[in-house]
Amino acid sequence: MRVEVLAVGTELLLGQIANTNGAWLGEQLALVGVDSHFQQVVGDNQGRIVLALRTALARGDGVVVTGGLGPTHDDITREAIAEVMGAELRFDPEVWARIEAIFAARGRALPESNRRQAMVPEGARVIEQRLGTAPGLICPVGLKVVYALPGVPYELQEMFERAVVPDLRERLAAEGFHGVIRSRVLRTWGISESALAERVAPRIEALDAAGNPTIAFQASGIEGIKVRVTAKAASDAEALALLDQEEAALRDLLGDAVFGLDGCTMEQAVAEELGRRGLCLGLAESVTGGLVASRLVAVPGASQWFRGSLVTYATETKVRLLGVPPGPVVSAEAAEAMAVGARRALGADVGLALTGVAGPEGAEDQPPGTVFVGLALPDGQTSATRLRLPGDRDRVRQLSVISALDYLRR
Ligand code: ATP
Ligand code: MG
Repeated sequence: MRVEVLAVGTELLLGQIANTNGAWLGEQLALVGVDSHFQQVVGDNQGRIVLALRTALARGDGVVVTGGLGPTHDDITREAIAEVMGAELRFDPEVWARIEAIFAARGRALPESNRRQAMVPEGARVIEQRLGTAPGLICPVGLKVVYALPGVPYELQEMFERAVVPDLRERLAAEGFHGVIRSRVLRTWGISESALAERVAPRIEALDAAGNPTIAFQASGIEGIKVRVTAKAASDAEALALLDQEEAALRDLLGDAVFGLDGCTMEQAVAEELGRRGLCLGLAESVTGGLVASRLVAVPGASQWFRGSLVTYATETKVRLLGVPPGPVVSAEAAEAMAVGARRALGADVGLALTGVAGPEGAEDQPPGTVFVGLALPDGQTSATRLRLPGDRDRVRQLSVISALDYLRR
């Protein structure tokens, strides 16, 4: 079965928002076991939406449309779908009653324009709205199907999982497909894509012969390289067993370059490691100006292992608050002294510090992108490492954050 994604919205074409719904839907369709060979983005124009729908239906079995279900005049997905179905839009009193209830519950007056959202193409099935006001639609077009879902990502995701996935599974079963497809992502840091490919090569060769599971790389810049394993099997349990086996084999090859699985972030990995060892952390940040702290406190329960961060930007502040000795501050010595100072000043078990040059100009004879990460451990041991990071000021600061956390984790 082949299903395309069609994202509707002029703001997508203008680059004002990124088409994250397209990315999410692409991933989900693959997980359900549906082939998806094309995606389209189209503006809020009925003729062009109709054309996009007809194109998709001509080369596939279904379309998932996202966006354009709102109450304003430029939300015309419903009209376009009705045109493609050759159906009339009719007012659905049940949908309208739910919209009325939603507004009443929020204590808001219900604008007349919202009646548009209660218009349903004849022959379409309504997906009840639970999070937003617009219902979704399952619209048969001959033996093919158009699913219309809201543009707001969390509304879209909830409806897709609740109503579209079961419908797709039914259609797949009718075609004789009863399997499942499951993926797992190994998150890595500190290893280049080519080095990674080299290390994983033996597994890829072994797997290519069998064809299942498959391995793919995804470079994502400041979040490290992802290694995705995808397994097809008759049941969930079988697919998970295949993934477990492959994960173990890959971990053997990649060692501690793997910091987590799936949605795990570097800060979550660090949190887990600190929690496991029962240690708390104190920071001194210069080049990152608090970015590391900001990422750490995004982890729920951070107060249990995070003491705080001293943003010591000026040299004088490094000296006064952290006791950094005279000399260059973009140096291993300064980074270590900052880590020791942060550990003491914040009453932490472990001190971590960053000092460097983000650019665009160099400093103290160091080129932009030079960053030193210092570490002070509970037993009094200290160390520092020099990073040479690529990119502009913003990128250097972002890369500093994850690199420093990775240094701490190891
Ligand atoms: P609603 O039914 O809630 O009014 P809608 O179906 O009218 O939603 P849009 O008005 O097209 O959807 O989009 C609503 C918001 O959802 C947009 O402002 C944008 O923030 C987000 N959005 C829309 N399309 C996408 C997309 N393809 N990817 C990510 N976000 C999107
Ligand atoms: Mg809209």
